[in-house]
Amino acid sequence: MAKLKDNVALVTGAGSGIGREIAIEMAKAGGRLAICDIDMDGAAQTVKMIEEAGGEAAPFEMDVTNEDQVNGATDAAVERFGRLDTLVSNAGVQIVHPIEDFPYAEFRKIIDIHLGGAFLTTKAAVKHMYPQKSGSLIYMGSVHSHEASPLKAAYVSAKHAILGLARTMAKEGAKHGVRSNVICPGFVRTPLVDKQIPEQARDLGITEEEVVKNVMLGATVDGEFTTVQDVADMAVFLAGFDTNALTGQSFLVSHGWVMK
Ligand code: NAD
Repeated sequence: MAKLKDNVALVTGAGSGIGREIAIEMAKAGGRLAICDIDMDGAAQTVKMIEEAGGEAAPFEMDVTNEDQVNGATDAAVERFGRLDTLVSNAGVQIVHPIEDFPYAEFRKIIDIHLGGAFLTTKAAVKHMYPQKSGSLIYMGSVHSHEASPLKAAYVSAKHAILGLARTMAKEGAKHGVRSNVICPGFVRTPLVDKQIPEQARDLGITEEEVVKNVMLGATVDGEFTTVQDVADMAVFLAGFDTNALTGQSFLVSHGWVMK
Protein backbone atom coordinates (compact mmCIF):
# COMPACT_ATOMS: atom_id res chain seq x y z
CA MET A 1 0.00 0.00 0.00
CA ALA A 2 1.50 3.37 -0.93
CA LYS A 3 -1.16 5.84 0.13
CA LEU A 4 1.58 8.26 1.17
CA LYS A 5 4.04 7.59 -1.65
CA ASP A 6 6.91 10.10 -1.37
CA ASN A 7 4.99 12.10 1.23
CA VAL A 8 7.64 13.71 3.46
CA ALA A 9 6.39 13.74 7.04
CA LEU A 10 7.98 15.33 10.11
CA VAL A 11 6.80 13.79 13.40
CA THR A 12 7.71 15.29 16.78
CA GLY A 13 7.99 13.04 19.82
CA ALA A 14 8.59 10.19 17.36
CA GLY A 15 11.06 8.45 19.67
CA SER A 16 8.31 6.77 21.72
CA GLY A 17 4.66 5.77 21.98
CA ILE A 18 2.11 7.29 19.64
CA GLY A 19 4.61 9.34 17.61
CA ARG A 20 6.76 6.28 16.94
CA GLU A 21 3.79 4.23 15.71
CA ILE A 22 2.56 7.08 13.50
CA ALA A 23 6.03 7.31 11.93
CA ILE A 24 6.19 3.54 11.38
CA GLU A 25 2.73 3.41 9.77
CA MET A 26 3.40 6.46 7.58
CA ALA A 27 6.65 4.87 6.37
CA LYS A 28 4.77 1.62 5.61
CA ALA A 29 2.34 3.68 3.53
CA GLY A 30 5.23 5.05 1.43
CA GLY A 31 6.10 8.17 3.44
CA ARG A 32 9.65 9.43 4.04
CA LEU A 33 10.03 10.28 7.70
CA ALA A 34 11.83 12.96 9.72
CA ILE A 35 11.96 11.50 13.25
CA CYS A 36 12.21 14.40 15.72
CA ASP A 37 12.67 14.12 19.50
CA ILE A 38 14.78 15.30 22.41
CA ASP A 39 15.45 11.63 23.13
CA MET A 40 17.96 10.71 20.42
CA ASP A 41 18.21 7.07 21.57
CA GLY A 42 14.44 6.73 21.10
CA ALA A 43 14.65 8.51 17.74
CA ALA A 44 17.46 6.21 16.57
CA GLN A 45 15.40 3.17 17.60
CA THR A 46 12.39 4.41 15.57
CA VAL A 47 14.61 5.01 12.53
CA LYS A 48 16.03 1.49 12.90
CA MET A 49 12.54 -0.03 13.09
CA ILE A 50 11.48 1.84 9.92
CA GLU A 51 14.64 0.94 8.01
CA GLU A 52 14.42 -2.72 9.01
CA ALA A 53 10.90 -2.77 7.54
CA GLY A 54 12.28 -1.34 4.27
CA GLY A 55 11.22 2.28 4.85
CA GLU A 56 13.11 5.58 4.79
CA ALA A 57 13.69 7.76 7.87
CA ALA A 58 16.28 10.02 9.46
CA PRO A 59 16.62 11.32 13.06
CA PHE A 60 16.68 15.02 13.97
CA GLU A 61 17.29 16.43 17.45
CA MET A 62 14.47 18.84 18.24
CA ASP A 63 13.26 20.29 21.52
CA VAL A 64 9.88 21.66 20.41
CA THR A 65 10.14 24.53 22.93
CA ASN A 66 13.39 25.81 21.42
CA GLU A 67 12.66 28.00 18.38
CA ASP A 68 16.19 27.76 16.95
CA GLN A 69 16.19 23.96 17.24
CA VAL A 70 12.71 23.70 15.70
CA ASN A 71 13.72 25.88 12.75
CA GLY A 72 17.11 24.19 12.36
CA ALA A 73 15.76 20.63 12.46
CA THR A 74 12.84 21.44 10.12
CA ASP A 75 15.16 23.07 7.58
CA ALA A 76 17.59 20.14 7.88
CA ALA A 77 14.75 17.68 7.25
CA VAL A 78 13.71 19.61 4.14
CA GLU A 79 17.30 19.65 2.96
CA ARG A 80 17.51 15.86 3.49
CA PHE A 81 14.18 14.97 1.83
CA GLY A 82 13.63 17.88 -0.59
CA ARG A 83 10.18 19.01 0.63
CA LEU A 84 7.71 18.82 3.53
CA ASP A 85 4.16 17.50 3.10
CA THR A 86 3.00 16.54 6.59
CA LEU A 87 3.65 17.86 10.08
CA VAL A 88 2.59 15.71 13.03
CA SER A 89 2.89 17.90 16.12
CA ASN A 90 2.82 15.15 18.73
CA ALA A 91 5.55 15.67 21.37
CA GLY A 92 4.09 15.85 24.83
CA VAL A 93 4.42 15.19 28.55
CA GLN A 94 1.94 14.88 31.39
CA ILE A 95 2.11 16.36 34.90
CA VAL A 96 -0.82 15.90 37.30
CA HIS A 97 -1.54 17.77 40.54
CA PRO A 98 -4.57 19.37 42.17
CA ILE A 99 -4.37 23.06 41.32
CA GLU A 100 -3.54 24.13 44.87
CA ASP A 101 -0.32 22.07 44.63
CA PHE A 102 0.42 22.75 40.95
CA PRO A 103 3.77 24.57 40.65
CA TYR A 104 3.44 27.39 38.11
CA ALA A 105 6.74 26.31 36.51
CA GLU A 106 5.20 22.89 35.78
CA PHE A 107 2.03 24.48 34.38
CA ARG A 108 4.18 26.58 32.04
CA LYS A 109 6.24 23.55 31.04
CA ILE A 110 3.11 21.72 29.84
CA ILE A 111 1.82 24.77 27.97
CA ASP A 112 5.26 25.36 26.40
CA ILE A 113 5.68 21.81 25.15
CA HIS A 114 2.13 21.16 23.89
CA LEU A 115 0.95 24.57 22.73
CA GLY A 116 4.26 26.41 22.25
CA GLY A 117 5.66 23.36 20.45
CA ALA A 118 2.63 23.16 18.15
CA PHE A 119 2.96 26.88 17.39
CA LEU A 120 6.72 26.77 16.67
CA THR A 121 6.62 23.61 14.55
CA THR A 122 3.66 24.98 12.56
CA LYS A 123 5.48 28.25 11.90
CA ALA A 124 8.58 26.35 10.75
CA ALA A 125 6.58 23.90 8.59
CA VAL A 126 4.35 26.34 6.69
CA LYS A 127 7.42 28.22 5.51
CA HIS A 128 8.06 25.15 3.33
CA MET A 129 4.43 24.13 2.67
CA TYR A 130 3.04 27.49 1.50
CA PRO A 131 5.38 27.84 -1.52
CA GLN A 132 4.48 24.25 -2.55
CA LYS A 133 0.77 25.12 -2.26
CA SER A 134 0.11 21.94 -0.30
CA GLY A 135 0.51 20.37 3.11
CA SER A 136 -1.21 18.69 6.04
CA LEU A 137 -0.90 19.86 9.63
CA ILE A 138 -1.87 17.16 12.13
CA TYR A 139 -1.97 18.04 15.82
CA MET A 140 -2.08 15.55 18.69
CA GLY A 141 -4.96 16.70 20.84
CA SER A 142 -6.71 14.38 23.27
CA VAL A 143 -10.16 13.61 24.59
CA HIS A 144 -8.94 16.32 26.96
CA SER A 145 -9.27 18.79 24.05
CA HIS A 146 -13.04 18.40 24.62
CA GLU A 147 -13.44 17.17 28.21
CA ALA A 148 -11.85 17.95 31.56
CA SER A 149 -10.53 15.71 34.33
CA PRO A 150 -9.42 16.57 37.84
CA LEU A 151 -5.65 17.07 38.41
CA LYS A 152 -5.07 18.08 34.78
CA ALA A 153 -5.45 21.87 34.78
CA ALA A 154 -2.36 22.37 32.62
CA TYR A 155 -2.87 19.47 30.20
CA VAL A 156 -6.58 20.15 29.63
CA SER A 157 -5.87 23.85 29.07
CA ALA A 158 -3.10 23.08 26.56
CA LYS A 159 -5.11 20.44 24.69
CA HIS A 160 -8.17 22.72 24.44
CA ALA A 161 -5.94 25.50 23.10
CA ILE A 162 -4.60 23.22 20.36
CA LEU A 163 -8.12 23.16 18.85
CA GLY A 164 -7.92 26.94 18.56
CA LEU A 165 -4.54 26.86 16.86
CA ALA A 166 -5.62 24.10 14.47
CA ARG A 167 -8.83 25.92 13.50
CA THR A 168 -6.92 29.14 12.92
CA MET A 169 -4.47 27.26 10.71
CA ALA A 170 -7.36 25.75 8.72
CA LYS A 171 -8.42 29.33 7.88
CA GLU A 172 -4.93 30.75 7.31
CA GLY A 173 -3.67 27.68 5.43
CA ALA A 174 -6.61 27.22 3.04
CA LYS A 175 -5.46 29.61 0.36
CA HIS A 176 -2.04 27.92 0.41
CA GLY A 177 -3.50 24.42 0.03
CA VAL A 178 -2.62 23.56 3.64
CA ARG A 179 -5.11 21.55 5.75
CA SER A 180 -5.16 21.40 9.53
CA ASN A 181 -6.76 18.79 11.79
CA VAL A 182 -6.53 17.40 15.33
CA ILE A 183 -6.52 13.78 16.49
CA CYS A 184 -8.04 13.33 19.95
CA PRO A 185 -7.17 9.92 21.41
CA GLY A 186 -8.59 8.35 24.55
CA PHE A 187 -6.16 6.66 26.93
CA VAL A 188 -3.38 4.75 25.16
CA ARG A 189 -0.92 2.55 27.12
CA THR A 190 2.34 4.45 26.52
CA PRO A 191 5.06 5.57 28.98
CA LEU A 192 3.12 8.85 29.38
CA VAL A 193 0.07 6.98 30.71
CA ASP A 194 1.94 4.32 32.68
CA LYS A 195 3.61 7.10 34.69
CA GLN A 196 0.31 8.74 35.67
CA ILE A 197 -1.48 5.62 36.95
CA PRO A 198 0.36 5.56 40.33
CA GLU A 199 0.36 9.39 40.47
CA GLN A 200 -3.41 9.56 40.03
CA ALA A 201 -3.97 6.72 42.52
CA ARG A 202 -1.98 8.71 45.09
CA ASP A 203 -3.70 12.06 44.41
CA LEU A 204 -7.25 10.63 44.18
CA GLY A 205 -6.79 8.21 47.11
CA ILE A 206 -7.86 5.11 45.08
CA THR A 207 -6.10 1.97 43.85
CA GLU A 208 -4.22 1.76 40.54
CA GLU A 209 -6.82 -0.77 39.31
CA GLU A 210 -9.57 1.78 40.05
CA VAL A 211 -7.67 4.47 38.15
CA VAL A 212 -7.58 2.24 35.05
CA LYS A 213 -11.12 0.84 35.30
CA ASN A 214 -13.01 3.92 36.46
CA VAL A 215 -10.97 7.05 35.70
CA MET A 216 -9.35 6.04 32.41
CA LEU A 217 -11.81 3.61 30.83
CA GLY A 218 -15.03 4.12 32.82
CA ALA A 219 -16.76 6.20 30.15
CA THR A 220 -15.74 4.13 27.11
CA VAL A 221 -18.34 1.93 25.41
CA ASP A 222 -16.35 -1.26 26.00
CA GLY A 223 -13.73 -0.67 28.73
CA GLU A 224 -10.91 -0.87 26.19
CA PHE A 225 -7.75 1.20 25.79
CA THR A 226 -7.24 2.96 22.46
CA THR A 227 -4.07 1.61 20.80
CA VAL A 228 -1.12 3.32 19.13
CA GLN A 229 -2.21 1.52 15.95
CA ASP A 230 -5.69 3.11 16.13
CA VAL A 231 -4.16 6.58 16.37
CA ALA A 232 -1.59 5.91 13.65
CA ASP A 233 -4.32 4.71 11.25
CA MET A 234 -6.13 8.02 11.72
CA ALA A 235 -2.91 9.99 11.12
CA VAL A 236 -2.21 8.10 7.87
CA PHE A 237 -5.77 8.80 6.73
CA LEU A 238 -5.46 12.53 7.47
CA ALA A 239 -2.03 12.81 5.82
CA GLY A 240 -3.36 11.12 2.68
CA PHE A 241 -6.61 13.08 2.35
CA ASP A 242 -6.23 15.33 -0.65
CA THR A 243 -8.54 18.32 -0.38
CA ASN A 244 -9.64 21.12 1.90
CA ALA A 245 -12.98 19.31 2.36
CA LEU A 246 -11.45 17.88 5.54
CA THR A 247 -9.92 20.75 7.48
CA GLY A 248 -10.44 22.44 10.83
CA GLN A 249 -11.77 19.21 12.39
CA SER A 250 -10.97 17.12 15.42
CA PHE A 251 -11.29 13.34 15.40
CA LEU A 252 -12.06 11.46 18.62
CA VAL A 253 -10.41 8.04 18.64
CA SER A 254 -11.50 6.95 22.11
CA HIS A 255 -13.79 3.89 22.17
CA GLY A 256 -16.76 6.22 22.42
CA TRP A 257 -15.55 7.94 25.60
CA VAL A 258 -16.70 11.17 24.00
CA MET A 259 -19.13 11.42 21.07
CA LYS A 260 -19.23 14.67 19.10
P1 NAD B 1 5.36 9.16 25.20
O1 NAD B 1 5.88 9.61 26.53
O2 NAD B 1 5.39 7.70 24.88
O3 NAD B 1 6.10 9.94 24.03
C1 NAD B 1 6.29 11.33 24.06
C2 NAD B 1 7.55 11.67 23.27
O4 NAD B 1 7.67 13.11 23.26
C3 NAD B 1 8.84 11.12 23.91
O5 NAD B 1 9.63 10.47 22.93
C4 NAD B 1 9.52 12.36 24.46
O6 NAD B 1 10.95 12.29 24.46
C5 NAD B 1 9.04 13.43 23.48
N1 NAD B 1 9.16 14.79 24.02
C6 NAD B 1 8.84 15.22 25.27
N2 NAD B 1 9.15 16.52 25.40
C7 NAD B 1 9.66 16.92 24.20
C8 NAD B 1 10.16 18.15 23.71
N3 NAD B 1 10.22 19.25 24.48
N4 NAD B 1 10.60 18.20 22.43
C9 NAD B 1 10.57 17.09 21.65
N5 NAD B 1 10.13 15.90 22.06
C10 NAD B 1 9.69 15.82 23.33
O7 NAD B 1 3.88 9.73 25.14
P2 NAD B 1 2.63 9.42 24.16
O8 NAD B 1 1.57 8.82 25.00
O9 NAD B 1 3.08 8.73 22.93
O10 NAD B 1 2.16 10.91 23.84
C11 NAD B 1 2.29 11.51 22.56
C12 NAD B 1 1.23 12.58 22.40
O11 NAD B 1 -0.07 11.97 22.48
C13 NAD B 1 1.25 13.66 23.48
O12 NAD B 1 0.98 14.93 22.89
C14 NAD B 1 0.11 13.26 24.39
O13 NAD B 1 -0.43 14.36 25.10
C15 NAD B 1 -0.87 12.71 23.37
N6 NAD B 1 -1.89 11.82 23.93
C16 NAD B 1 -1.54 10.69 24.59
C17 NAD B 1 -2.54 9.88 25.09
C18 NAD B 1 -2.23 8.62 25.83
O14 NAD B 1 -3.15 8.07 26.46
N7 NAD B 1 -1.03 8.10 25.78
C19 NAD B 1 -3.89 10.23 24.93
C20 NAD B 1 -4.20 11.40 24.25
C21 NAD B 1 -3.19 12.18 23.75
